[in-house]
Amino acid sequence: MDIQNTDNAATRRIAALKDRVTLMKEHDYYFYNQPIEEILEGAKVRVKGRVMGMYGSYSYLGLVNHPRINEAAKKAVDKWGTGTNGVRTLAGTLTLHTELEETISNFKHTEAAITYTSGYVTNLTVISTLMGRGDYVFSDKINHASIVDGCMMSGAEFRRFRHNDMEHLEGLLKAAPTDIAKLVIADSVFSMDGDIIDLPTTIQLCKKYNAWLMIDEAHSVGVLGKTGRGIEEYFGIYEGIDIKMGTLSKTIPSVGGYVAGQKGLIEYLRHGSRAYIFSAALPPAQAAAANESFKVILDEPWRIEKLNQNTKQFIGGLKGRGFDTLLTETAIVPVLCGTDERAFELTKQCQENDVFVLPVVSPAVQEGLSRLRATVTAAHETSEIERAMDVIYEAGKKMGMVK
Ligand SMILES: *Cc1c(COP(=O)(O)O)cnc(C)c1O
Repeated sequence: MDIQNTDNAATRRIAALKDRVTLMKEHDYYFYNQPIEEILEGAKVRVKGRVMGMYGSYSYLGLVNHPRINEAAKKAVDKWGTGTNGVRTLAGTLTLHTELEETISNFKHTEAAITYTSGYVTNLTVISTLMGRGDYVFSDKINHASIVDGCMMSGAEFRRFRHNDMEHLEGLLKAAPTDIAKLVIADSVFSMDGDIIDLPTTIQLCKKYNAWLMIDEAHSVGVLGKTGRGIEEYFGIYEGIDIKMGTLSKTIPSVGGYVAGQKGLIEYLRHGSRAYIFSAALPPAQAAAANESFKVILDEPWRIEKLNQNTKQFIGGLKGRGFDTLLTETAIVPVLCGTDERAFELTKQCQENDVFVLPVVSPAVQEGLSRLRATVTAAHETSEIERAMDVIYEAGKKMGMVK
């Protein structure tokens, strides 16, 4: 059967996407999956044969290609090879994995930690293992897709509170039955807007209404706090987060996800979460790279200082040039454009001038809030950031976005 030539709702969706992509390509607005040919020193990349400044990276501390981390990965391959015999429970747990989990629990000051092979999967499996039918989950409106999917998969009552709106969260908590399991979940740093969850109030509310708290630290580990330990260090609050989730694919230049918390919780996840039981373990090279990265973060605190300095320069500079950057306080800096088309056009002009940024449009963000979603890292030089902002400004001026 030729799927493409059958007419039904599913094939019509495929055809509609194809038309949309064709149209975007005709306008030179197709930035999806742009191939990077080479990653160069100092937050630069080669794209279409040209060297561009990289302003879309999650490698906040510039740890990709760090010699110590590369070395750890190579050694692990020499010692263990490239795979793990399959799932952890049968023959796949290596001393490397237990070492990595110890490193993570030390870094996050918890009793224990568990790792999975992706951050996305971590949220799916952890939320759906802990919560079920009859329970209640409360999720910030702009939480990451993996959290939303985890909540839906759990089958629990799913309540979404307005973004960082603590009054709304309290209202929803109050309205839920008292004698059921409740879980509040939020990103620590919101991945599209760059602002930070009101942790102190969230913790208070969780205590008051007897709810667990889960925080996703994809964008705060290595970013927030003096030593990069994350959101608790940033607020100086070390009690109150029950489930500390994070990824190993952003600041940590590897792949995978983790949860850190109390021994009982981690033990329960090890015995009950399906992505742990039915999916293979992290490959040795990636486990070793992740393990070494946490140590490098602690050994090289200058990277966090540089990131903070660059973040200030980038946000301040773009605001000063007249752009709306929403409420960001971190290295994720949205440059609001409004329509999808404006976001595409601004992206195109930036890339023509060797500034590699990418657009985020609906449905990933609310309609009308399409944007460049730029990031800055510790690997950028002050003068490069200045030049990138000038490029964005000149393009924005031409388009009538700023004066
Ligand atoms: C990236 C991200 C994830 C998923 O992590 P991966 O390691 O890429 O699978 C989860 N949560 C948030 C907030 C993220 O930004």
